[in-house]
Amino acid sequence: MSATLDIVPMQDWINTGGKPLIIAGPCSAETEEQVYETVTQIARAGYAHVIRAGVWKPRTRPGSFEGMGEAALPWLQAVKKETGLPIAIEVATPEHIELALKYGIDILWIGARTTVNPFNVQDIADALKGVDIPVLVKNPVNPDLALWIGALERLQNSGIKKLAAIHRGFSNMQETRYRNSPYWQIAIELKTQFPQLPLIGDPSHMAGKREYLFELAQRALDLNYDGLIIESHRDPDKAWSDAAQQLTPVALGEMLHELHIRRPSYGADYQSELERMRAKIDNLDRELMEVLAARMAVVEKLGEYKRDNNVAVLQLDRWKQVYTSRADWARRLNLYPETVEELFKLIHMESIRKQTEVMNQVGA
Ligand code: PEP
Ligand code: MN
Repeated sequence: MSATLDIVPMQDWINTGGKPLIIAGPCSAETEEQVYETVTQIARAGYAHVIRAGVWKPRTRPGSFEGMGEAALPWLQAVKKETGLPIAIEVATPEHIELALKYGIDILWIGARTTVNPFNVQDIADALKGVDIPVLVKNPVNPDLALWIGALERLQNSGIKKLAAIHRGFSNMQETRYRNSPYWQIAIELKTQFPQLPLIGDPSHMAGKREYLFELAQRALDLNYDGLIIESHRDPDKAWSDAAQQLTPVALGEMLHELHIRRPSYGADYQSELERMRAKIDNLDRELMEVLAARMAVVEKLGEYKRDNNVAVLQLDRWKQVYTSRADWARRLNLYPETVEELFKLIHMESIRKQTEVMNQVGA
């Protein structure tokens, strides 16, 4: 299905002076003092455009801290008054929305565990009919782009035009470096389909550990994301949720300062240099294709030879030798060996397909 979204540009609802949007704040609002100290420290450091805080926490297992609920909303109202910064919270039900609006919350987000469920998303969209408020939609926990788009469309159908997507990574069966695998390609595909939709990176929930925040935030900026949402706590190790991934307001400021913000648009020189390099890449890809075609021609001859001598197509020893040697060659050429191995698996599969085709033709 090809569709478009009618989006109000982000700069029309939050002024970031052309810089990436920074949303910072604790994973959860825990106590009045924790909210006050964390938010005033963030405000003093001066980098944030919006404050985030979790009020209702969707916890994977029961028994962990599930958020302070309505009690936390006056604390957020108070720090908004004190700092002038707009407040964003997660909502998962129509009741959450009613309370958020009652306490003057400025921006809502839909969590990853809610985006997966079209019933919940529809309830939220219905509750937002006629309400003019920005809504940020986190990707679903599972790597399913259609669910992410579906949630955005349901909100759009309720008249929400101040929309943005938050990319927080996807859960994974295997132990990986990150708590949630980024699968950048999925977010890039979303941006490709909806270029006007602002995209915000959530390195906190991708990383799971504060040591990985910088590399993930930088990657998001390298991909020209429109902003970042990052968790910050006055005393991260003592946080009641997501302790390992939070930074103090000052440490977050230092990290943001180290990030390189890439130029989002190009000048004329840059444009022509870009075009020159792209033309070069086009030519190299054509050459690659010619080499591949030449390789396939040899494979075809090989298939005929095996057929005429009644030899099996797949020779395991040969295949092992091919792909270990290719990985070695890759290393010497400064290419990433795992990637080259994957590439040769595909090329090998195509060779097998071709030879099987030849095998089944009657010999000359
Ligand atoms: C959060 O932002 O604290 C949160 C619960 O995130 P997610 O929905 O991405 O897990
Ligand atoms: Mn969190």
